[in-house]
Amino acid sequence: MKIMVAVKRVIDYNVKIRVKNDETGVETANVKMSMNPFDEIAIEEGVRLAEAGTAEELVAVSMGGDGTQETIRTALAMGADRGIHVASDEALEPLAVAKLLKALADKESPDLIILGKQAIDDDSNQTGQMLAALLGWSQGTFASKLEFDGGHVSVTREIDGGLETLRLAMPAVITTDLRLNTPRYASLPNIMKAKKKTIDQMSPEDLGVDVTPRLTTLKVVEPAKREAGVMVETVEELLDKLKNEAKVI
Ligand code: AMP
Repeated sequence: MKIMVAVKRVIDYNVKIRVKNDETGVETANVKMSMNPFDEIAIEEGVRLAEAGTAEELVAVSMGGDGTQETIRTALAMGADRGIHVASDEALEPLAVAKLLKALADKESPDLIILGKQAIDDDSNQTGQMLAALLGWSQGTFASKLEFDGGHVSVTREIDGGLETLRLAMPAVITTDLRLNTPRYASLPNIMKAKKKTIDQMSPEDLGVDVTPRLTTLKVVEPAKREAGVMVETVEELLDKLKNEAKVI
């Protein structure tokens, strides 16, 4: 089985996000960037499948500008065999990424594509679903467990009411949820080895995909500050405030 994993470079989850003064977006200059946490889980799952002999090849792909190669190198250090970088300085929307991934899937013919359930920068939670639709493949989103048998994969999914298990015919698109696994840290020897692995570079034009944005961001602002709370003396006072001030009951 050949696996392709999509990894996105995002602002590190520990960084306190700062909105730009002109309200056009968030500050990314001199900010620590890392692999999207759900994509680390996706790579980890691919590496485990390769270690178990279920997968023969694991390809890490990423789209973006300067620095994206660093994220691919992290995936290679975790255990991916090779990388593909689609270089673009445009802000890539989920539909554009899904189209690029489809074009790569047409070239690479993987049996499985694993993505994160969402990127923590845009929180879109769209790319995997759009990709499965564009390819006409089965999809298992929010996966917390995968089991393979023959040409099928059983996906346990975290849904509101509990856990749902789907049996998908492959090829398939999977998106990862938090509990699928705990990603490993890349060891120093593996970071060194990763420097020798190949990263192919191409452009959206090479793949025949128009990535022109379709959305316009009107403005980005800080969330409203929380107001200080008030202490009430009695239950009656609390009910009165809920009824007459907050008007929630
Ligand atoms: P989103 O739909 O934007 O929340 O992203 C969901 C998933 O799509 C991410 O966890 C990644 O696996 C993948 N993805 C989104 N954007 C990119 C990108 N620029 N490069 C590689 N993978 C991406």
